[in-house]
This record gives sequence, structure tokens and C-alpha cells, in this order.
Amino acid sequence: MARSQGIKDFRCFIDGEWTEASSKETFESFDPFTGKVWAKIPKCDSRDVDRAVIAARRAFDSGDWSKLNATQRGHLLRRLGDLIARDADHLAATEVQDNGKLYAEMRGQVGYMPQWFYYFAGMADKVEGAVQPIDKPDMFTYTRHEPVGVVAAITPWNSPLLLLTWKLAPALAAGCTLVIKPSEFTSASTLELMRLVEEAGFPKGVVNVITGFGQDVGEAISTHNGIDKIAFTGGEVSGRRIAQQATGNFKRMTLELGGKSAQLVFPDANLDNAVKGVVSGIFAATGQTCIAGSRLLVHRSIHDEFLEKFLELAKTARMGDPMEMTTQVGPVTTQTQFKRVLSMINMAKAEGAEVAMGGKPADRPECGDGWFIEPTVFTGVRNDMRIAQEEVFGPVLSVIPFTEDDEAYQMANDTPYGLAAGVWTSDMARAFTAAKRLRAGTVWTNTYRAVSYMMPFGGFKNSGVGRESGQDAIYDFLETKSVWLAFNKDVPNPFVMR
Ligand code: NAD
Repeated sequence: MARSQGIKDFRCFIDGEWTEASSKETFESFDPFTGKVWAKIPKCDSRDVDRAVIAARRAFDSGDWSKLNATQRGHLLRRLGDLIARDADHLAATEVQDNGKLYAEMRGQVGYMPQWFYYFAGMADKVEGAVQPIDKPDMFTYTRHEPVGVVAAITPWNSPLLLLTWKLAPALAAGCTLVIKPSEFTSASTLELMRLVEEAGFPKGVVNVITGFGQDVGEAISTHNGIDKIAFTGGEVSGRRIAQQATGNFKRMTLELGGKSAQLVFPDANLDNAVKGVVSGIFAATGQTCIAGSRLLVHRSIHDEFLEKFLELAKTARMGDPMEMTTQVGPVTTQTQFKRVLSMINMAKAEGAEVAMGGKPADRPECGDGWFIEPTVFTGVRNDMRIAQEEVFGPVLSVIPFTEDDEAYQMANDTPYGLAAGVWTSDMARAFTAAKRLRAGTVWTNTYRAVSYMMPFGGFKNSGVGRESGQDAIYDFLETKSVWLAFNKDVPNPFVMR
């Protein structure tokens, strides 16, 4: 796929208009493969947050959007899904130029995104309240589910469009309006998506995008009393800060945060499949996924054999231009992250972990001037080392042996996170036991990195609050209202509770 040439100038999208930031300032977005600026993005501030929130509030309270019924909202969502399918090549290429993930993966992700819009379009007019069989004979009671209001969607740089889709589709189906803030490192694809929101015919102000940095635009959003809910995906530190800032008006919150997921390989596993699964868990997307299987817990009896097979496959990984369909490992998205991953590699070496592969920047000719790090494997790791406890968000695997199943579950659970886990076994009893014992929002058995619009996704412990995808996700964008109607002739004693 060809990358866009020259420097592209983007506008933000507020109240249906393409506009500069109030400051008139912009900031640069880099192509991680070339290391060069390819886009200029408006540098919004709290004035733009106010503009966007006013537009979203008006659309929610009194605009055309508030007059649509749920079936009509579903039609708009379906149309948006169709437009995304039509423009998937362009959206995927934009994302790759901005974040350096593989075009082969991004094309698949963007091609799959319409399913979220179709799924929640179908749910929009199936949100039913209930008549309660109430214990008071002179009352009729029922519940209604009403949209929570204006939602702020704050997204990270690793999969900006997919992670936005997980919020946008259920929020619109529920009848909410949105203020979106993409990562300062990868704003372009979200802005391109707004062209399709416009073409689909969503009324002005329903979906707004403001661009800028977490500490100014982000904080202005999380402290803004005109916003009713925050749907956030990002790191634990930002998530904690947002949760603290959002208490002013007790915003509703879903937080999808980081992970330190373990892949458990038992002696009865099909080792060839397990090798592929562990490779895909840590080196796909250059390890820049929240669900990266960054700890390999492998039974001692197969440790050496497994490692040998694993290194043999991992060493064949083709690095290079992420736009090429044959590339298997691309660059790290940002220069800051590149330095951070290298510093964590050095930290692991200092802790006594042994480098079995990689452990340095990649200086292969096919990597050009990009921010590439060699796929890295550490052996001799103990689960209490920092490299086994802290999220790297890069292509770095820690290998830790175990002897007893209980020991494997205990180590897998012994981090502050609980996002995902992988289990490789051919013993069904062990598979069910592992699924129960592992404290993680997702447990994959004999597979890894599978997601679907039908399956809830989210974390235990410090990996987050709430779930995205699946039927329940729409209720995170709804409030439940209890309605009471009395039909007794006289109001009884007003001084006691009814
Ligand atoms: P980040 O937390 O640095 O930034 C995420 C977003 O939050 C960005 O848009 C940023 O500008 C904004 N932000 C930062 N500080 C803010 C503040 N105080 N108030 C409001 N907004 C603020 O994360 P990142 O580096 O972009 O992404 C990597 C992290 O995201 C990793 O920890 C990864 O595990 C996590 N992640 C989680 C999931 C999941 O579904 N659980 C998925 C992908 C990524």
C-alpha cells in the first residue's frame, strides 16, 4: 500500500464543521517507519473542549438527534458501517502511516469494524424496559433505559479506530452524543472516519473530534461538568488520573487499561501450535497491544524443547515497511516508546535476566530510519522481577518455568493486572480448571488474540473497569429510570414511607 506524500494538514471536527484549533496552533504527527513528519494536527485546548461539549449537549438535549427513534439511529449506524467497509483500504493506510502497525493487520481490523456498527444497530431498538411485578397493589411500575448523555471517548495510539469503534457503536445505538479525543500520536485516522460520519448523515454535533495532548485537552475533558461519561482506553497511569479528575460530577466510567498477560504452556500441549500462539501474542503488532502475552509460563519438562522451537520460528520474523503485506514485525509507534522499551530491556538485563534473542534496536537495512527493536526474549526471569510485573508495550517476552499447575496459576495471577491469559493444553479438564483459576477478563485456550463484537472484553484488577463489546456493552451507555404510577384515590399518610 502506498503512503501519502507531502505533509497533510488536518482539521478537527466540531458541530459538523471542519475547524482549526482556537489557538490556530498545530503539532506534528510522525510516520514511525520513516521517522519523518507526515501530518499536522490542530492543537486544541480547553476552549475547543467547551465548543465540542456545547455542540454535543445541544445535539443530545434538543437537536435532530434527540428526535430520532431507536430504529432510525440503527439505520444511520448501518450506513456508517457500509461506508467504513467501502473505505477500509484508505482508513487502514492512514492508520499505518500514523502508528506503524502492519497494513496486513490494520486492513483486517478496519474490514471487521463494520460488524460492531451492524451489531449495535440491531440492538438499538431492542433495549427494553420491564414492567415490575410490584408488591404494592395500588401502583403500576416500570423501568426505562435512557441514554447517559454526552460521552467522552479517549483513545490510545495502538489501534485508534478499532478501540474507538468499541465505544462509538454502542454509544450511538444508545442515543448518546460524543466528544472524541484520539491520542496525540495518532489522530489522523479518527479524523478521516469523521468524513464518513458526515456522509452517513449524522446530525451536527452528535459526533465531535478534538485533537491535542492528554495533559491539556484530555484533562479539560475529564474535569468538564458537561460530560456525563468517560469511555477510556489507555495506560494505567492516565486511567487513574482520569478517574480522579472525573469525580466533580461523578461521571460514569469505563476504563480499558494495560496488562501483563501470561501464556501457560502445559506439557500435554501441541507444542507447534503453542509456539505459533506465543509468537503471535508477543511479536504481532510489535507487542504494542494491551493483550500482549508478555510472560511465557512453560512447564520445566518441556522448557528447553519449547524454547528451541520458539526461537527458531521467532528468528524468521520479517521486519520492515509496515505497508508491505509480507512484513511481520513493524516499528514501535513513537520515539518516546522506542526509548522506553529499550530502557526496560536494559532494566531486565540489570535485574539478571538473560537475553536469548534480540535485546537491542534493529539495524537491519530493511528497517530504514524507523524506530525498530529486535524481537526480544529473556530467560532466567523470576515472576517478581520488574520485567515480569510491568507492562513493556513492546516486543519483549519473559520466560518463566513452572513445575506444578497451581504454581503456574499463582504466578499468572501475581501481577497488578488481569486483562487476558492464554492456555495451551490438550487436556479438557485442565482447560476448564485454568479458565476458572485465572483472574483475567479473557482466557483463550489453544488460541490467542481473538476478539469479536459479540464477546465482552475488559479487565480484572488494574486492567480496568467495565466491558466493551457484547450485548451488555450498550447498558454502559444507558441509565435505568424507575417509573411509579399510583392509582389509589387518596394519598395515604404522607408522614410515612410508602
Ligand atoms: P495513554 O494512557 O498515554 O494515552 C491514552 C489517551 O489518554 C491519549 O489520548 C492521551 O492523550 C489521553 N490522556 C493522557 N492523560 C490524560 C489525562 N490526564 N486526562 C485525559 N486524557 C489523558 O496510553 P497510550 O500510551 O496511548 O496507549 C498505551 C496504553 O493503552 C497501554 O497501557 C495499553 O495497555 C493500553 N491499552 C489498553 C487496551 C484495553 O482495551 N485494555 C487497548 C489498547 C491499549
